[in-house]
Amino acid sequence: KNQLSRSTLTRSLRYAIERTRVRDAEWDSPMFRLAQRQFLKAAQLMGLDDNIRQRLLFPERNLVVTFPFRRDQYSEVETVFGYRVQHILTMGPTKGGIRYHQDVSLGEVSALAMWMSWKCALVGLPFGGAKGGVRMDPTGLTSHELQRLTRRFASEIHLMIGPDKDIPAPDMGTDERVMAWIMDTYSQQVGFAVPAVVTGKPVVLGGARGRTEATGRGVVYLVEEAAKQLRMNLSECTAVVQGFGNVGSHAAQFLEALGVKIIGVSDATTGIHNPNGLSVAALLEHVKENRFLKGCRKGEAISNQELLELRCDILVPAAMQNQITADNAERVDCRILAEGANGPTTLEADEVLNEKSVFIIPDILANAGGVTVSYFEWVQDTQNYMWTLDEVNERLHRILVDGFRRTVGRSEQTGVDMRTAALIEGIGTVAQAKLARGLFP
Ligand code: GLU
Repeated sequence: KNQLSRSTLTRSLRYAIERTRVRDAEWDSPMFRLAQRQFLKAAQLMGLDDNIRQRLLFPERNLVVTFPFRRDQYSEVETVFGYRVQHILTMGPTKGGIRYHQDVSLGEVSALAMWMSWKCALVGLPFGGAKGGVRMDPTGLTSHELQRLTRRFASEIHLMIGPDKDIPAPDMGTDERVMAWIMDTYSQQVGFAVPAVVTGKPVVLGGARGRTEATGRGVVYLVEEAAKQLRMNLSECTAVVQGFGNVGSHAAQFLEALGVKIIGVSDATTGIHNPNGLSVAALLEHVKENRFLKGCRKGEAISNQELLELRCDILVPAAMQNQITADNAERVDCRILAEGANGPTTLEADEVLNEKSVFIIPDILANAGGVTVSYFEWVQDTQNYMWTLDEVNERLHRILVDGFRRTVGRSEQTGVDMRTAALIEGIGTVAQAKLARGLFP
């Protein structure tokens, strides 16, 4: 089964895609198609039961809302689109972030929800995947506007979420303040405080210690494992980090602390390159004052595309999806690709990178540190018992190293690439649970 030739695989993949009629589906979008194609490739190689394969291809529940929003300075009311998607309800409550971005769509949120399912199953968390989003650029909003937008969205989706049902968390464009407002809005509706309804909250509201930096920390724990495997000495390595938000800036900090030289970083406004190394503290200082990296004089200004092609040992895409594609994969020049972002690499690019023997730590493993500490937070809130930062980090490390070893083991044992191996681990667990629960009615 695992020895399928590439042409057979391509032919049966095409058949599977046609059979699902994805192009007619509401979720259809480049990102959802990427998630489905990754899934179908893994399903094929693992010989997944046909019926289970069909069931896992689409999200189980989707909520699309529109709601009114008024800015501080205008009397006009805007209609805003919001989404919450639950991919699989088999494993326990569903879990996944909420993103605020001007391009958010049902297709994007659905792809992200599917990846959350495989991610949670891969690292052994008792959750199905979910994701939510609001189609709005949050960067220009005042704090009052952000709060109004959040509270109205939270009240629109409140029927769908809950500590035993579906637990949101931060994602692109949202942070612990937004989580606090969601927790408060939900709690106002039910009449008592429900900290366990969201994760990534401020510590004072029951947030887990270390949750904010957990995704970046996890990326670096996994880079350490990959470096051990490849016999690379991190204190002699260089790194490039795309994205300087929560994930990218923390990953850069933790890499720097291990002696890695950060030679390039970027955000939505610019890239900065300095072959002699950048001080992450200085970059953070600049961002604190100017909000973005633009105008930072610590290195040469370059584009995000140029940044991705810099020669380095470790490349961390920690910004948007769809960054490494058939167009630039050939010129990506790193030894380890640690995907902090969700979906940064297309399937076509995967082929090129695998051919070049780039060691890929796939997104569902590389950025699983965030949802893992979210799980700790949810457990702590349900038990009313807080852990220390050391306890959080120690358990995070154990879970991620275990996920890494199982993925590498699966990849070596079956000869599949790291992404497919990680997917097979995650999908296999979900499939077992689906079969065990049976069909209703
Ligand atoms: N948004 C993060 C992710 O993509 C975290 C989700 C969570 O903590 O529930 O994994």
